[in-house]
Amino acid sequence: MKILNISTKLQQSIFFVLLCVSQFTFAQTETPVDSAEAEKGILTGVNVSSSVSGYSGTGYVTGLDKSTDKITVTLNAPVKAFYLLVIRYNSTGGDKTQNLIVNNGGASSVVFLKTSKWTDIEAGKYLLNAGSNTITIQSSWGWMDIDKFSIYNAAKNIYSIVPDLVNPNATKEAKSLYQFLLSKFNSKIISGQTNSSYNEVKSIGGQSPMIKGFDFQHYTQGYAYKWSNGAHTFGWEDDGSVKQAIDWYKSTAGKGIVTFQWHWHSPSGGKAGTNTFYTNQTTFDVTKAVQSGTIENTLVLRDIDSIATQLNRFQVSGVPILWRPLHEAGGTWFWWGAKGPKACKDLYFIIYDRLTNFHHLNNLIWVWSTPEADWYPGNNFIDILGHDSYPGVYNYDIQKNSFDRIYKLSEGKKLIAMTENGPIPNPDECLALDAPWSYFMSWSDLVTAQNSNQHIIDVFTNPNVLTLENPTAVNEIKTGKNPVYQIFPNPAQDEISLTGSDFDRVEVINMKGRIVFSTTKPVSSIQTGKYSNGMYIVNVYKDQTVFQHKLIVRN
Ligand code: CA
Repeated sequence: MKILNISTKLQQSIFFVLLCVSQFTFAQTETPVDSAEAEKGILTGVNVSSSVSGYSGTGYVTGLDKSTDKITVTLNAPVKAFYLLVIRYNSTGGDKTQNLIVNNGGASSVVFLKTSKWTDIEAGKYLLNAGSNTITIQSSWGWMDIDKFSIYNAAKNIYSIVPDLVNPNATKEAKSLYQFLLSKFNSKIISGQTNSSYNEVKSIGGQSPMIKGFDFQHYTQGYAYKWSNGAHTFGWEDDGSVKQAIDWYKSTAGKGIVTFQWHWHSPSGGKAGTNTFYTNQTTFDVTKAVQSGTIENTLVLRDIDSIATQLNRFQVSGVPILWRPLHEAGGTWFWWGAKGPKACKDLYFIIYDRLTNFHHLNNLIWVWSTPEADWYPGNNFIDILGHDSYPGVYNYDIQKNSFDRIYKLSEGKKLIAMTENGPIPNPDECLALDAPWSYFMSWSDLVTAQNSNQHIIDVFTNPNVLTLENPTAVNEIKTGKNPVYQIFPNPAQDEISLTGSDFDRVEVINMKGRIVFSTTKPVSSIQTGKYSNGMYIVNVYKDQTVFQHKLIVRN
């Protein structure tokens, strides 16, 4: 997000409206499990109209213009299960955002993209109760029409997350961190906090966030707050963040995880003492910056090289980084997003190429945090997809539709994280309701402004939340034969069978320590025909215990 020198209230409203959004259009050929016409719902402060043809039923609902305006419908599900919610709408006046509330839970934002006709969108997959369920759309921002709600049978998301980082030359520390994240995904949630307010969170929650977030904004020539002769001026400075992050990492014996974003001050300046990373505070043109030979291109390379010097300090110290450049680009409030997706992606590829292939920085895990499909650099260039979540004070909703939107963007092949947040989503609900954010990272003092102290305590003492004091949530490793979980035959050839399907996760690790298979599904067999001969470790996770088996493969 966001920063630092503008008022929190303004930020909140901006981000609430623009940020936490979700949307995809939808082509559905199946029959819905149930549908409800919006015009037949419980309507508050809205009108029924029939002037735009093509609606379903007897009309549609319009006039969502006050924050108290809402539509509530009831949908019936035959059994308690996950269902895909589809909303039929029309929004000819542009992209609009409304709040979605399922069964009186917390609100999450849904973006309805501009359309010229009645359109179906997927609004996420939700665990619904057997019998009646209420779905409410509450006005947030923008006039639009809502026609109908439908639910469809839907499986939980299937995660087939790639086992390797996009950079084949990643350092062993980066690979090891990625394996750790993989091994915890969908069974635990890793805690995180910006450097700012980190100690406060620790004192409230009683445990130390495992991730600590920092910013590179001081480390380029365009930094606009350098203090000189009693006034702000432009200039690079070392504010100590890098040393502090390295020292902290070492103090945790490598259990801590460092993340950096970069509020990249305009490479061409602007007004000293202002946030020149904002689109409205600079004239810097990113479309010129991505063309070789331009002055702007020279300036961005200068800045990337400046950051590379800092990233290299981590590399030589053996510190891997969750590296999150060009964050929130699709919001367009930062200059790197101001000219649309193509220039932004081109800039991303320049950064990726320069840092990876020119500077040989291999300690980076590449994190992308803007959810729009046309802005996405693609699975070949991104390791983790993130969502920056600001749904409003004390709203601990899991933001399922934002999660599902990113899931769809990555085709289920990448880790998904809440890369910034105001309120911390309820960890148990994240895991139970299939929005298993790999980690969260609370933003600065919003952690105490938007979470109650009790909520912070509940989160940090939850056994499914990993902290520095509880880094693995595995309290016990059991080896040898176990009456519930057994593997056979052993030695194995094409396949092993696994008894006991009631586990959180099963994984197979080769002798290089690489995970060659991992699933959270209740499988009863694992294909081993393509494994090279040798010894493997099979770990079966249940609650806070891992049941460990040695497996010999002889093909
Ligand atoms: Ca209707």
